[in-house]
Amino acid sequence: MKRVIDYIRSLFLFELLRGLGLTGRYMLSRPFTLEYPEEKAPVSPRFRGLHALRRYPNGEERCIACKLCEAVCPALAITIEAEPREDGSRRTTRYDIDLFKCIFCGFCEESCPVDSIVETRIYEYHFENRGEQIMTKGKLLAIGDQYEEQLAADRAAQAVVR
Ligand code: SF4
Ligand code: SF4
Repeated sequence: MKRVIDYIRSLFLFELLRGLGLTGRYMLSRPFTLEYPEEKAPVSPRFRGLHALRRYPNGEERCIACKLCEAVCPALAITIEAEPREDGSRRTTRYDIDLFKCIFCGFCEESCPVDSIVETRIYEYHFENRGEQIMTKGKLLAIGDQYEEQLAADRAAQAVVR
């Protein structure tokens, strides 16, 4: 009996019509795809993109050179050198992240006791010359300064979720 049913179905191209019906249904529905880069997908506040170093509202660097992020980094991507300032506070003299080594795990961000090193929503960047993948302290602070408003809002949203 099954063979007869299969024969009739194949005779009237039943499966083909069913497939075309499905195609037609999706042709009329809203597309899933985005016209990137003109259209952007929504990005989570917890997105782990390009790194940044943050400052306090008075302009002082948050980083206290505790080196926890350097110790926790599984890819050994962070290099920190530090020394005390004249006022006795401890600050980094060098803070590099090698993005070729980084696996964007977010451990550095999680380990930081002062919310200094963070990962931003930035995922569009490229390098053209050797060495540009090293994110120096200056570059990281500049990104932090530029996106501080967004970074603060994202940290606040994450605190609510926790
Ligand atoms: S995101 Fe992970 S791999 Fe990248 S620097 Fe931070 S701890 Fe290291
Ligand atoms: S970024 Fe945070 S964890 Fe890393 S050295 Fe500075 S204060 Fe410590």
